[in-house]
Amino acid sequence: MMQINERVRLLNRASENTKGRYVLYWMQIFKRAEFNHALNFAIQEANRRRLPLVVYEGLKYYYPWASDRIHAFILEGVEEKRRAFSDRGIKYIFYLQKDENSPKQIVKKLAENAVILVTDDYPCFIIPEHNQSISKKLNLPVYAVDSNGIIPMSLFDKEEYAAYTIRPKIKKLLPYYLKPFREEEVLVAADNLQLDCPDTEVNSGNIAELVSECAIDHSVKPSRFYHGGTNNARKRLKKFLKEILPNYAETRNKPEIDGSSRLSAYLHFGFISSLEVALAVLDTEAPKESKEAFLEELIVRRELSFNFTRHNPKYSSIEALPDWALKTMQKHASDRRDFIYSLKELENAQTHDELWNAAQREMLVTGEMHNYIRMLWGKSVIAWTSSYNEAFEILVHLNNKYCLDGRDPNSYAGILWCFGKHDRPWMERPVFGKIRYMSSASTGKKFNADKYIEWTKRLAKETDDL
Ligand SMILES: Cc1cc2nc3c(=O)[nH]c(=O)nc-3n(C[C@H](O)[C@H](O)[C@H](O)COP(=O)(O)OP(=O)(O)OC[C@H]3O[C@@H](n4cnc5c(N)ncnc54)[C@H](O)[C@@H]3O)c2cc1C
Repeated sequence: MMQINERVRLLNRASENTKGRYVLYWMQIFKRAEFNHALNFAIQEANRRRLPLVVYEGLKYYYPWASDRIHAFILEGVEEKRRAFSDRGIKYIFYLQKDENSPKQIVKKLAENAVILVTDDYPCFIIPEHNQSISKKLNLPVYAVDSNGIIPMSLFDKEEYAAYTIRPKIKKLLPYYLKPFREEEVLVAADNLQLDCPDTEVNSGNIAELVSECAIDHSVKPSRFYHGGTNNARKRLKKFLKEILPNYAETRNKPEIDGSSRLSAYLHFGFISSLEVALAVLDTEAPKESKEAFLEELIVRRELSFNFTRHNPKYSSIEALPDWALKTMQKHASDRRDFIYSLKELENAQTHDELWNAAQREMLVTGEMHNYIRMLWGKSVIAWTSSYNEAFEILVHLNNKYCLDGRDPNSYAGILWCFGKHDRPWMERPVFGKIRYMSSASTGKKFNADKYIEWTKRLAKETDDL
């Protein structure tokens, strides 16, 4: 693997396919036609060779936690991309692989006529494996491009300990990276390019039918609250900037009101880039403290998570915790737990704790869980399972199964934060040891918990989910 520049890595040593007719960009997670460094790099490479660009995006049926909810959200972003790419002279192919009888290995097939392959560099879930495997399989250069955050991940060459270690580094670099994005344009339009490859027509009228035909988990229904795509992300961003950001510093910790951006699912699927969001925030008249509080989350916290999953191969296990947390867990492993719940009881929001049940309901019904309550949600499962490992596995499963923003660096960093990652030791107590403790009784006093509980009950009733 060779770092070509701050954002680009060459994953293999194969020679260019000189007979290739186009540059191929395999879009995996930066599902957008603008503010996309991978797309820009692919356009530059196509222009250098006076060739057209083909963008391929596939959706398979067998990724972990594949469900109607996740599939629908992704499909909602397809039609607008087809339009955007067509307007820019770029060939866009979207292929929905419905089940085991559907054609396979489409990237490999398209790569036969490509000079090089460009793809997304994303530090967790299935993408690192995809990239490793495709770079071995193909007999042409494979480039992975980082369009995850504002600062390129390569500028941090080791795992950072916590927000306080990465923050000053980010602050120093920001003036160089928090700048308007320059979109590249293709020199050779792909209008007449004929490709022998399956292409799925997706429009707002056929998404439900397409989803129903896939061999995926149909029990997790599409969200009525969040709809995918860049247009929807920008619509939400506009509302956030106008109505929510001015008071974000106070409202962000109030789960009973619409007080935060709720952009995480859009950021996760790359429908919108954090650079676009940050620039738009800076361009408002909102109070400085609200802007700063928001950019701390969007840049410092988010990029800390990306740094963590990029450098720590154990990001999906409690082994990724700092020594003090592992030691304290060892000491308290056999402490008595007052309540033990099974995965099913937790999944169905059937605990003694009404606030926790409300959080779980929010996630089941909407496909998201508010940041403040999410911390309590995670901490409580540590107290209610017989081992830390079991708690971690349950949290990852529920978060990634139901949340549209799941399967993200923030998912793993957020869940591990509940066990002490990126945090410090606190006062010792049973089960948690020195890990920071949160209880429903004290957390629920900091906002209108009754209103939040009632809201989630109403939602569940309306959608008939529980
Ligand atoms: C147990 C647990 C699980 C979590 N799982 C996820 C997850 O699956 N996906 C996910 O994106 N976030 C996760 N988080 C972090 C955080 O809860 C969400 O990012 C936040 O709730 C998203 O809501 P928002 O977009 O309204 O955030 P805002 O407050 O509007 O913040 C803007 C953006 O900043 C980023 N951000 C906000 N808070 C954090 C944070 N604590 N750490 C890192 N980045 C942050 C997100 O990208 C977010 O969209 C988790 C946190 C915990 C404690």
